[in-house]
Amino acid sequence: MLEYGSLNKKIFIGCLLLFIVVDCQAGIVAQRWSKITQPTLGAAQSIGGYSAGCLKGAATLPTDGTGYQVMRLSRKRFYGHPDLMQFIENLAQSVYTQQLGTLLIGDLGQPRGGPTVSGHRSHQTGLDVDIWFLLSPEANSRPLTVSEREKWSASSVLLGKSDDIDFNQWSLANAQVLELAARLPEVDRIFVNASVKRQLCNSTAKRDWLRKIRPWWKHDDHFHVRLKCPADSKECQNQDPLPQGDGCDKLAWWFTEEAKKLPPSPITESVEPILPVSCDAVLKE
Ligand SMILES: [Zn+2]
Repeated sequence: MLEYGSLNKKIFIGCLLLFIVVDCQAGIVAQRWSKITQPTLGAAQSIGGYSAGCLKGAATLPTDGTGYQVMRLSRKRFYGHPDLMQFIENLAQSVYTQQLGTLLIGDLGQPRGGPTVSGHRSHQTGLDVDIWFLLSPEANSRPLTVSEREKWSASSVLLGKSDDIDFNQWSLANAQVLELAARLPEVDRIFVNASVKRQLCNSTAKRDWLRKIRPWWKHDDHFHVRLKCPADSKECQNQDPLPQGDGCDKLAWWFTEEAKKLPPSPITESVEPILPVSCDAVLKE
């Protein structure tokens, strides 16, 4: 009995060590990518999948442009495929022209993409961007200071911890921004909180663009735009195509107890992504 107990203990400690090693390695891989401060030169190439990939020849998003401002400059996550820069600049220009406000831009990707030490599992191929729902009149009137860009928080469009939309935070302009984004052909999908999708389903007459609006956990203070693989990125892996229909009839599950149990957090997950071999060269260049 004693021996069995001590064997169990050894296995337990062994597993614990193994988990720590795996976890450390996952951290080490991400650290290698996050330590790099410059993109590689040459033509842009998105390589691999959104959650296991990297980026060659990244472009840098200017911190300010017509209709947008980049937040959290210290994170240095303002790199991406040139298609992503073009998308952000186009969308922001339309938002500006239609006087919907100023877009506050969160994370894009790291200088060479790859896994990050914090925050996301995706954003690895330079084709993902987070944009705040907050359309602040203040940000619309002047450039925010560096410190404001660090300290401001993205406000949730939900009332407290409920599933109800907070109409002090949400307005028609938010829906219009999402529609402008979803109608751009390079956009593959946009992740939003299920309550946001429900709000759009209930308030939109012409629903064809809602197909691209996908319910996902969290995403109540920002939306996440994902572009399709650029045509000349031969090693880029698209996600499975979107299901048919606007998805408004498939929302009920998101409001069940089962759905409320959050998916594994990207930070506690110990499995490291296996990147395509081509990413080794991108890291070493
Ligand atoms: Zn995101």
